Amino acid sequence: MAQDPVAATNNPPADSANNGTAALSDPDADRVLSLLKEAPPHLLRLIDRGKVRWSFDDRPLKEARKQGLTKFQYEVGHRAQFRYRWLASSGSQYRLAASIAYQKLSFEMKHEIILSEFFSAQGAWKSRLLLHEFDHICISTDPRVASIAEDLFFGRERLEVVVDAEGYQQQVQKKIEEEILEKFEERKAAFGKMLQEAYDRLDALSQHGLQPIEDRKKLFSELFSHEFLKAIEGFPLDRIDEKSLEFSPAVEMHYEPFFVP
Ligand SMILES: [Zn+2]
Repeated sequence: MAQDPVAATNNPPADSANNGTAALSDPDADRVLSLLKEAPPHLLRLIDRGKVRWSFDDRPLKEARKQGLTKFQYEVGHRAQFRYRWLASSGSQYRLAASIAYQKLSFEMKHEIILSEFFSAQGAWKSRLLLHEFDHICISTDPRVASIAEDLFFGRERLEVVVDAEGYQQQVQKKIEEEILEKFEERKAAFGKMLQEAYDRLDALSQHGLQPIEDRKKLFSELFSHEFLKAIEGFPLDRIDEKSLEFSPAVEMHYEPFFVP
């Protein structure tokens, strides 16, 4: 069976983003260009890695009572193939064990940074506000996030399925497909919840970017750790390989430029 790539979003789908300059009206495109021209190289890399697009719109900011906002969006595409065998059954229901292989078609993280209509590109890269939005991007482009997605959405698993004895042959395919879809929806929701939790922790510690974070290394290393995931209700930690959660020196360096002296 095949499943189309499914988009999981916490906001409306982004337009195609190309260094954040595509699909913007002209005044915004000019503003983005002047922003990018002055951007430090390590942040340009993050813009690229996070497929960042930019918006200048006061309405969502007012709603969220924020001066800047970063939204993440993720897309997961997989194809599930399965085999099954019958288990010992009794009564009016039959049980079967399905072995499922999820083949990866795609995984992509995208972001939208929303700033005020009155935002000026001049001196922007010294503003704590803008750097705070990049802390958000930093979190969701963390290599551990991609590894967690690999473990969560792809690979193999075994599911037990129950069908009614009457007309069981007609139900098998549909039942297994329903189980697969249900798992997929659960995992997408858990993944979104995990990212939101990490964003919220950053916001709480930094008062939405108004305060410098005292121990940045501590914050970033604790995100996506075993303890962090365990505290998220309903997160399927059993699918995650501990190796995926290792905070490697390379990852740490990834955050180095953001240390506030
Ligand atoms: Zn924030």
